[in-house]
Amino acid sequence: MMSKLKDYQLTNDELNSDFIVVNSCTVTNGADSSVRNYISSMKRKNPDAKVVLAGCGSHSKGESLFEDKKVFGVIGHSEKENINTVLKNEEPFYQIGDLEHIDSTIVEEFIGKSRAFIKIQEGCDFRCSYCIIPAVRGDARSHKEETILEQITKLASNGFGEFILTGTNVGSYGQDHNTSMAKLLKKMSMIRGVRRIRIGSLEPIQIDDEFLELLDEPWMARHMHIALQHTSDKMLKLMNRRNEYKTDLELFHKIASRGYALGTDYIVGHPGEDEKEWADAMQRVKELPLTHVHAFSYSKRDNTASATMKPEVRGNIAKDRHRELTAIIKAKNFVFRREHTQNLEVLLENGNDGIYHGFDQYFNKVSVRSDEDLSSNWVFLNDVEVTNEGNKAQI
Ligand code: SF4
Repeated sequence: MMSKLKDYQLTNDELNSDFIVVNSCTVTNGADSSVRNYISSMKRKNPDAKVVLAGCGSHSKGESLFEDKKVFGVIGHSEKENINTVLKNEEPFYQIGDLEHIDSTIVEEFIGKSRAFIKIQEGCDFRCSYCIIPAVRGDARSHKEETILEQITKLASNGFGEFILTGTNVGSYGQDHNTSMAKLLKKMSMIRGVRRIRIGSLEPIQIDDEFLELLDEPWMARHMHIALQHTSDKMLKLMNRRNEYKTDLELFHKIASRGYALGTDYIVGHPGEDEKEWADAMQRVKELPLTHVHAFSYSKRDNTASATMKPEVRGNIAKDRHRELTAIIKAKNFVFRREHTQNLEVLLENGNDGIYHGFDQYFNKVSVRSDEDLSSNWVFLNDVEVTNEGNKAQI
């Protein structure tokens, strides 16, 4: 939206703005109430401003906020690229658009001058019980291959070396265009200047033989994020997931044995997670070759199947479980880093006071001390110092 605003001046000072565009999140009930609270506080603090609701919240609660006259306008995802025209509406507007649309802007974000996030698809065909995302983002649809490759070619010729593929459910890329993630990766790797490719996240069932054949390619980052969400089969069923532990375990061992670090998403405290399930699930986590985790404490989301499931897990118990899980993975990550101190390829971001941060091919953070300006440089490290906080080196 920021890149499309032509006739307006951007400011972060919402108290003196004529328009306040709220790009909202709706993933949990908590996210919903912060959006509501923010909108009411802006109505009080800057009553003359026109508040426009955008983002996923438009699709879940836009209509009621609009009818209650809490916002001046509502725009859905497909209208974001028209923001410059939409704001010219003199009358209140409700332009929800459609959920089949795919935005033409695929470059999401740049980190320094060297890493670029590329959105290759939108939406999700899965229906996990706890998740509202398919309802507000629509079914899976992919960006055109030509657009993606053209964009990457431009960025690579401008010095970008690492590309991170993102989306709502990245691994479903290609199914609607009769192609696949593996085919896209191969084509990307042939572009001059593309040095390392990461995939934001994959689902276990999306990893097929065609994809596994690429594991030894030098341009594949040696870290993969595969969303499991749980390791108890009872919980996976309740969550309406498409993976199960036995095949997850095989898959993880297969990929780890090819020299990969592995991360996952894990939801802790979903209804039905009793003591026994939890203890078994943690036993299984210990068996998995995991090195990274994004642990989420379950948070109820209205209008999802999980919201009515019982028995719920008390907040303090979920907190303890969250801590237990992250401690297990932290220890595993430490062991992994100790075993991988050689031949690290690190892409550094901008530095401060002679200290530069970056990630190696295993997605472990490395800080490098140097008197030289190493911003946006690739460095090759041997013998890094492995500490609890991360890997350290001096050049
Ligand atoms: S795969 Fe991800 S986005 Fe899709 S329903 Fe499940 S949790 Fe939500």
